[in-house]
Amino acid sequence: MSAARYTKSRKLIMTDRYAVIGNPVAHSQSPMIHAEFARATGEAIRYEKLFAELGRFREVVEGFIAEGGRGLNVTLPFKGEAYRMSDEVTERARAAEAVNTLTFRDGKVYGDNTDGIGLVRDIVQAMDVQLAGKNVLVLGAGGAVRGVLEPLLEEKPASLTIANRTLIKAEALVHHFAPWGVCQATGYGELAGRAFDVIINATSTSLHNELPPIPAGLFNARSLAYDMVYSKGLTPFLRRAQSENAGMLADGLGMLVEQAAESFFIWRGKRPDTRKVTHMLRELLA
Ligand code: NAP
Repeated sequence: MSAARYTKSRKLIMTDRYAVIGNPVAHSQSPMIHAEFARATGEAIRYEKLFAELGRFREVVEGFIAEGGRGLNVTLPFKGEAYRMSDEVTERARAAEAVNTLTFRDGKVYGDNTDGIGLVRDIVQAMDVQLAGKNVLVLGAGGAVRGVLEPLLEEKPASLTIANRTLIKAEALVHHFAPWGVCQATGYGELAGRAFDVIINATSTSLHNELPPIPAGLFNARSLAYDMVYSKGLTPFLRRAQSENAGMLADGLGMLVEQAAESFFIWRGKRPDTRKVTHMLRELLA
């Protein structure tokens, strides 16, 4: 149920409820991000963390809806289940077959995926790096890549290459996304001697303080190196890019905030200022 709150003059405010659902979920920064968005835009919302046991996702979501919950962000490992639970999905969620934003309205469940637009906004708007006409390389072929390919293709890069350790997974993505645009699949070995304008690390290697098996010489002074993982210092991928004098380095903190801002916009119709919140989170990481 929406929570009731009173102002000092005893005026009743109904506070709409939102949450991030995942397993695990304790580490999520989403409550802090959405609290800041709500404060900055004057929206009366409550945003919490919702843990779901594996196999109990639908039950937990239905319980949240029954209590009057208005929307959920969905994190690992439930984005596929959220997609299947949605009555209607956006084109970008349909392409990804994954949903990270659920909205409950008029007895229906609406699914969207804001991960890709979060990445694109961080690169194109926050960093002012155009993707149109560029040669883009994405490392990895897991859930994160599935979530970002359609919005990346929407930007009309000159080429979009997916490199993955397990080549067949990259090939499957190329095939799946063919209705939305052309991508190429490759193994890491074939990257030697090639040049890209934007190189996005969407593998989970940084979480284990490892480098994806990229050949030396992949970066140059014009390239943007972007790691979807964010951390206090540079990740091994960003350290390699720095040592090869990549023109720009970025981690995934901006993407995290931008995807949250798009969810907030879907729910509340307001676009919060993302720079301040990214800056605040960066200070907390330091
Ligand atoms: P996933 O589905 O588990 O996929 C992991 C990917 O990493 C696969 O392509 C895998 O290759 C590759 N990989 C793992 N270890 C490797 C190694 N030692 N060498 C080469 N490749 C390796 O994970 P995901 O959901 O796609 O997430 C990937 C990363 O993106 C995570 O670290 C996550 O934190 C980050 N992410 C960030 C945001 C954000 O908002 N900033 C949003 C979403 C995800 P194989 O297929 O060969 O196993």
